[in-house]
Amino acid sequence: MPDGGRARTHPGRSDVVSVADAVGQAHGGAARPTVSFELMPPRRPDAAPKFWETARRLVATHPDFVSVTYGAAGTDRATARQVVGRLLQGTPVLPIAHLTCVGASREDVEEVISDFLDEGVRSFLALRGDPPRDQPDWQPAPDGVRSSTELVALLREVEASRCASDPAAALRGAARPLTIAVATFCDGNPAAGTTRAQEVRRLWQKQQAGASFAITQLFYDASSYTDFVAEARAAGVTIPILAGLLPTTEPARLRRVEELTGVRAPQHLLDALDALPDPEAQHAYGIAYTVDLAQRVLDAGTPGLHVYTFNKHRAALDLLEGVHLGGGSAGTGGSTSAAAAPLVPDLASGPWVTGTSLPTTSAATHGTPV
Ligand SMILES: Cc1cc2nc3c(=O)[nH]c(=O)nc-3n(C[C@H](O)[C@H](O)[C@H](O)COP(=O)(O)OP(=O)(O)OC[C@H]3O[C@@H](n4cnc5c(N)ncnc54)[C@H](O)[C@@H]3O)c2cc1C
Repeated sequence: MPDGGRARTHPGRSDVVSVADAVGQAHGGAARPTVSFELMPPRRPDAAPKFWETARRLVATHPDFVSVTYGAAGTDRATARQVVGRLLQGTPVLPIAHLTCVGASREDVEEVISDFLDEGVRSFLALRGDPPRDQPDWQPAPDGVRSSTELVALLREVEASRCASDPAAALRGAARPLTIAVATFCDGNPAAGTTRAQEVRRLWQKQQAGASFAITQLFYDASSYTDFVAEARAAGVTIPILAGLLPTTEPARLRRVEELTGVRAPQHLLDALDALPDPEAQHAYGIAYTVDLAQRVLDAGTPGLHVYTFNKHRAALDLLEGVHLGGGSAGTGGSTSAAAAPLVPDLASGPWVTGTSLPTTSAATHGTPV
């Protein structure tokens, strides 16, 4: 697999103390940038085999972590937990569990947090989640957790209370402290109606609540990221800020993402993609565009790249290959990569591929720091 002389070594579960440490080291500029992927739990059982094949291919490139989304209002609570548990127990990758609080009572959220902690999960991405689209006047429940800032604080509270009541939990917490990431929005969050300045302020609040690092919403212009980071640093934000990137290979995906997030792709990019004759040409153009974007933020000193995969490995891997951070889908074709086999269990087989019978996991089975 071509690596341009900057081959990424497998961190190994014993080499990385925590996700926050890995990101923090890269932030210092001394280490290679981190690489991570976002995965979405399969929605239907018949999508599970394809999902796990994608997961296997991504895990085989030894990312620093893989984050697993969680539906607003906990719609995919069981599947998300199964996916995180399976990654934690059956692969060398460090999973981060997304957690949302919108539409849930405080008691519900505490229960979900406890479930994940019981599973052995020590890394979270704390989010509010988007309110229901059909309720423009939606307000958080009086007994609910209103924002990601409150969720970060609640995660720390639940962990502290478990540590206070159980010496084993206290020891585990001392050995493997929680890592809590948060989302941030370089150009403001159109879905929430916030400006960049408000998101800078909000990120500072998330940091004060105990966030370990931040991952940005996708953006299309490197200056969105670099200007935001500069403003955040000036405002006292010191935590690492990872650049979130969407490979821009499919115009339909870019339009759908705009509907979901409010982040609009540049018209010139959409026009260029639309004018191309077929998906292969669009793939090549989109990868070149995203590689250029990624290289600009790497040159500006980003501590890492977080790739929004939409459960597709090819574009994610080609993007990484383009910036010489591993990856590359060409050599793997449609078959299993032999190089991946010894490191990554066969995630595309076994009873869990149905999505209905993932093996149960227990915290005792994985002692690796996350
Ligand atoms: C990297 C990333 C991953 C994501 N993953 C998921 C996912 O898995 N599932 C999902 O459903 N969504 C996900 N989202 C979308 C995200 O949940 C929404 O964009 C949401 O609207 C904002 O999230 P937040 O955590 O920044 O919310 P918050 O920071 O809580 O902000 C949301 C709103 O809460 C209010 N608010 C926040 N802080 C305060 C405060 N201190 N005082 C008063 N009001 C306040 C503001 O009105 C703001 O508009 C993700 C987004 C990103 C960037």
